Amino acid sequence: MITLTPQEKFVSTAIKKLKENSGSHSPSLFTLAHQFPDVKIKVDACFLSNPYASQLFFKFFQEEFQNKRNFENLIQYYPSQNTIIAQLVARHLDISAKNIFMGNGAVEVIQAVIHNFVKKKMIVNIPTFSSYYEFAKENIEVVYHQLSQKNNFNLDLENYLKQVEKEKPDTVVLINPNNPDGSYIKLTEMEYLIKKLQDVDNIIIDESFIHFAREEDNQIQSTVKLIDKFNNLIIIKSMSKDFGIAGIRAGYGVMNPEKVNHLLKNGYLWNLSGLAEYFFRIYIQDDFQKMYEKVRIKYINQTQTFIQKLSKIEGIKVYPSQANFVLIELLEGSTAFNFFNKLLLEEGIYTRNCSDKIGLRGEFIRIASRTKKENKKIIKSMINLFLDSQSKTNISINYPKFSHEQVRI
Ligand SMILES: *Cc1c(COP(=O)(O)O)cnc(C)c1O
Repeated sequence: MITLTPQEKFVSTAIKKLKENSGSHSPSLFTLAHQFPDVKIKVDACFLSNPYASQLFFKFFQEEFQNKRNFENLIQYYPSQNTIIAQLVARHLDISAKNIFMGNGAVEVIQAVIHNFVKKKMIVNIPTFSSYYEFAKENIEVVYHQLSQKNNFNLDLENYLKQVEKEKPDTVVLINPNNPDGSYIKLTEMEYLIKKLQDVDNIIIDESFIHFAREEDNQIQSTVKLIDKFNNLIIIKSMSKDFGIAGIRAGYGVMNPEKVNHLLKNGYLWNLSGLAEYFFRIYIQDDFQKMYEKVRIKYINQTQTFIQKLSKIEGIKVYPSQANFVLIELLEGSTAFNFFNKLLLEEGIYTRNCSDKIGLRGEFIRIASRTKKENKKIIKSMINLFLDSQSKTNISINYPKFSHEQVRI
């Protein structure tokens, strides 16, 4: 069983307070490093992004903005309006620009959609990404559909449809692959669901992790192509995770033109920054897409290897995942709190303690896949942790000593 030393307990409590102040999202690495200069984070396995995609974009970025003139232009001028950037993305997605609402990150799209189109009642599957129910206005009833742990958090379609029929919500939310468990709904199953859900006003499908999922081949199985067939579809896409550009804030929603118009009437004229526009202009280029495809496949392969290796560690259950992260359940009595802190303080690995996630019963940690080298370090550290916790004789470990003064919070 993993336990903390008194010093570790002290620091852990301070970190917990910091976390509580960040609401339902984890404090960023910057915040953590600033508040706890002695905690040396070596691997950020909390943040969910493809590190190779970040590097690729940065290469394009550096080349472009080496030229001082280009950089000055980016800063001085207004970016294009929402509908202009939508036209670029539309060509790439092969749909009409009238169907696209661009967002300052997917979170802005989620907020806009939840605030404007949910009428009375929505069904959200849990565990989930918290914004969907947190953004619901006071008069909205949120009904939870519990994903079954026994079924590895896979959606049981018939069971789900039964609840929808009983509750009669105007909006349903499906995140595919789901965060935090990585469970995946195949495109054929999704099509079946959509057809069965034609009495629901809004089917929100969040495809923020779809680039990491694969079925028989490497094709991305997005529902975007169904937009002309089903008027009630709303597909939400974040670029943060699969392109590794969370700092830029870029996302979009695909929905019927009336909905797009309704949102645009409420504002959002220049809601994307010049940098986000620059990203989308790169994103739609063929040469970028070719290079991106390579790093996408490479990362998916490494992630699956990482998950397989994690599965071999005793004392944990690793849930199957089609995303770039994996949900881990601690068996044998260790708490997520102790595990999270031990891994951070002794090994410098920052993960996501899922104890605040509704719909998870037990002790759960979410770990993101990073570069191959970082993944190796994560595996090694986890093995160390379990070995140490098993050995009766306490080996003395050198880790930083903390005093009250050092912990600034
Ligand atoms: C991270 C995340 C988002 C938010 O993405 P941003 O584009 O960074 O705002 C939306 N949906 C899900 C499921 C996420 O995990």
